[in-house]
Amino acid sequence: MRGYFKLENKKRVVKIEMDEETYQLWLATKAKLGEAKDASAIKKLCESQVERPQKKVRQAPTTRIAGVVLRRELLKQAEHQCQYVGQNGRRCENRHFLQADHKVPYFLGGKTVQQNMRVLCQQHNALVYQNLREQNLF
Ligand SMILES: [Zn+2]
Repeated sequence: MRGYFKLENKKRVVKIEMDEETYQLWLATKAKLGEAKDASAIKKLCESQVERPQKKVRQAPTTRIAGVVLRRELLKQAEHQCQYVGQNGRRCENRHFLQADHKVPYFLGGKTVQQNMRVLCQQHNALVYQNLREQNLF
């Protein structure tokens, strides 16, 4: 994971883990917005993810579940390996029970588009979910 963004959600500060690409996008979005609040920057980030064209995947970005085509693309992109990178910088080597995961969570406005999706093994998906849960995000 590259970094975090903070979001005030119901008076709590929320930290979301991001990969390098999302992190850069986030920084660029924040820079564009100047002093704007993180929440509105997240909104812009999510919108910008939708603006980028998706060639093969024809799925509404607001649908929560990744469809067959999107899943196939994600798996191909991930070379059928979990994309979780630990704090030691090493990527998980698990290749079984891979699940599609939203980098920016769906309930925070993250879209079901290739740029916002990654594949995680069951354990890491559960870990990410648990981290969000510990922050009382839902
Ligand atoms: Zn994993």
